[in-house]
Amino acid sequence: MAPHEAGRAAGGRPDDVYAAPLSGEPLPRYRMPDREADPRVAYALVRDELSLDGDSSQNLATFCTTWADEEARRLMAENLDKNMIDKDEYPQTAEIESRCVRILADLWHSPDARNTVGCSTTGSSEAAMLGGLALKWRWRERRRAAGADASRPNLVCGPVQICWEKFARYFDVELRRVPLEQGATGLRPHQLRGHVDENTIGVVGILGVTYTCDYEPIAGLAAELDAIQHDTGLDVPLHVDAASGGFVAPFCQPGLEWDFRLERVASINASGHKYGLAPLGVGWAVWRTADLLPEDLVFRVDYLGGDMPTFALNFSRPGGEVITQYYDFVRLGREGYRKVQQRCLDTAEALAGEIAGMGPFTLLYPGTGALPAVSYTLTDPGAGFTLYDLSDRLRTRGWQVPSYPLPPDRDRTVVQRVLIRHGISADKAALLAEDMRRSLEELSSGARGGGERIGFHH
Ligand SMILES: *Cc1c(COP(=O)(O)O)cnc(C)c1O
Repeated sequence: MAPHEAGRAAGGRPDDVYAAPLSGEPLPRYRMPDREADPRVAYALVRDELSLDGDSSQNLATFCTTWADEEARRLMAENLDKNMIDKDEYPQTAEIESRCVRILADLWHSPDARNTVGCSTTGSSEAAMLGGLALKWRWRERRRAAGADASRPNLVCGPVQICWEKFARYFDVELRRVPLEQGATGLRPHQLRGHVDENTIGVVGILGVTYTCDYEPIAGLAAELDAIQHDTGLDVPLHVDAASGGFVAPFCQPGLEWDFRLERVASINASGHKYGLAPLGVGWAVWRTADLLPEDLVFRVDYLGGDMPTFALNFSRPGGEVITQYYDFVRLGREGYRKVQQRCLDTAEALAGEIAGMGPFTLLYPGTGALPAVSYTLTDPGAGFTLYDLSDRLRTRGWQVPSYPLPPDRDRTVVQRVLIRHGISADKAALLAEDMRRSLEELSSGARGGGERIGFHH
């Protein structure tokens, strides 16, 4: 091979990245290249493409972790080769997963935290599927035992995240999505009675509604299900989708009863990679007690000469995220989680105050009492601009602030939402508020495109 083809200039010195052969034309779009390339050059060019993604710390749409410390990054890199499913080959990784499950069962007040079951997943979506499957299996067993029809299961919920729509479609369950009431941020207990029946496998309550960031009143939902059982005999379990709230409420709202303290709560899912502070790719599902996970759903894999029960949709899965989750538990402890989340809540509350003071907005969720976030609507539909216009303007400064209509909501209310999470400082929130003010001025003076007004000359 000629020297230049290996990315080396005459004399064996490496080519400059941007003078190397690979950088002489666009990277492959459709076909794998025939030749190898210098990893240094390939790395630089791929990384350069990714700069188009923007800065994740300005992505205020996501609940997911966008900041990690050096030690977390090291653990991720050092465990690149660990497969979560190889319990026999990597028994200590398996042990760490079990410790995380026990720690979460304890944090969420399982009456039998040391012995109950749970598992890591790729995120809350997989965890929700597993929680939903356990509900479906248990409902079917009850129906069969009673000699009743078990062909038309339904799941009752409010404005759930799309993973529950997937669960319903993939596993053939009718999703009974209760419409949002005017001004409500989620499902309300009094709405349950009209939707729950003998085919209801469970109710999903959300601790941190994706669209509004508020908590649904889980204790109220549980009490209503108790009352329904009292009046009708229907015993409907509650699953809590605590994707975000499961790692906020225990630290910042410890008095709030949303977890296994409520007997009605059969299972909980949470995203380790959201307010759990772990890197992307880890979620958790935990059952109140081991008997609530049907044996039929459990598969066994080899483990230290014996076997270990597993419940998962995937087989191979990276171990680094679970290991790093454990590192976060060890490093931060309850004190550290409380401090990190409380700082985010304080920042969200301050930002909510700023946003309320800007004039055109009505706060839907003011950043306190639930997730560290703010959600709001445009008060006057005749304002001359929409929230989508504001999202566009903010994007010119790199901010990603989403606008979207609320799900099943009669008048298609459009909301905007800002999430504050680990790594988003008070300073960053203040910069966002300044840019919002500037954008509002531009929008209300009609310079929507902004081209002429902000054109500049050399
Ligand atoms: C993010 C989210 C999910 C999905 O979680 P992933 O971890 O992204 O799979 C489910 N439910 C709620 C309420 C969420 O916020």
